[in-house]
Amino acid sequence: MEQTILPYCYFNKQIVPSENATLSIASQSVQYGMTCFAGIRGYKREGSIRIFRLEDHFNRLKNGAKIMGWKIEESYTSFKSAITELVIKNRPDGDFYLRPFLYTTSKAVAPYFVDPHYQIGAYLAPLGHYFDPSQGLKLTFSSWRKFSDASLPTKAKAGGCYINSALATTDAKKAGFDEALMLDQQGYVVEASIANIIVVYRDKIFIPSVGEAVLDGITMRTMVQLLKESGKEILYQPIDRSMVYSADELLLTGTVVQVRFADSVDHRPIGKPGRGPLAAFLQEKFASLIDQKPLPKPEWITEIELP
Ligand code: PMP
Repeated sequence: MEQTILPYCYFNKQIVPSENATLSIASQSVQYGMTCFAGIRGYKREGSIRIFRLEDHFNRLKNGAKIMGWKIEESYTSFKSAITELVIKNRPDGDFYLRPFLYTTSKAVAPYFVDPHYQIGAYLAPLGHYFDPSQGLKLTFSSWRKFSDASLPTKAKAGGCYINSALATTDAKKAGFDEALMLDQQGYVVEASIANIIVVYRDKIFIPSVGEAVLDGITMRTMVQLLKESGKEILYQPIDRSMVYSADELLLTGTVVQVRFADSVDHRPIGKPGRGPLAAFLQEKFASLIDQKPLPKPEWITEIELP
């Protein structure tokens, strides 16, 4: 199914019709995946738009550029005003995904960062639930390993790195599963192909530590804060495959997936049938961050009034 995007995007420091925003066939971003991107959710509520943790996503994007050695001129203030203008121009009629990204127009026929001046672009795509919130996910361990930070930066959402996710997700979907779980180079379970993981094992909450081969997920940071505020203890310890098969609950967290629970992994049921208590707690808390008035965490929401 062809993905539709909203009619206007931000490209070359201007708002332009999306079909006019084109990169050369020879751009290094096209040829070598030399991009960094962000993925942010926007929610349409009562005539206004609520964007979740815009500044944190912008900071992670800038940090990705720093890891790569790229220079980004845009400040958060100018980025936020461009995004505000873009949202108002598009007038989304439902929830959407906001995809800011860094690109180069360099046409150098070699994979090296010739021009460190990367530009920022952004577009919007309609996005409701990626996975049905009431259904548990059917997961599998991918035969592709998550790349180690010794080979590629795990803390940057660099375009080229996502070939790893694409291979894993495609194999999982072809085999009839919803998503793939990734083992690292040592065989520990680190994340899903596009989401972080939380494992409940013998009543304890386990999360891989940030220093492992994981993306420093903004949804996961949110989960950690919600868990800490409710006095729940988190163990940052390596998680192995048989712990996952034996888990009471397995949760996926990420901007696209939001908070979802696993029904099974490799056809082995996870915990009791249906949604477990931690999934219920985190899904409800997470939904309240967007929907509850007054907003429980206004510092995480950029509210844009649609004129
Ligand atoms: N891991 C990977 C590999 C991802 O692509 C994503 C999605 N950005 C996540 C984890 C979750 O991160 P976030 O909560 O910031 O979307």
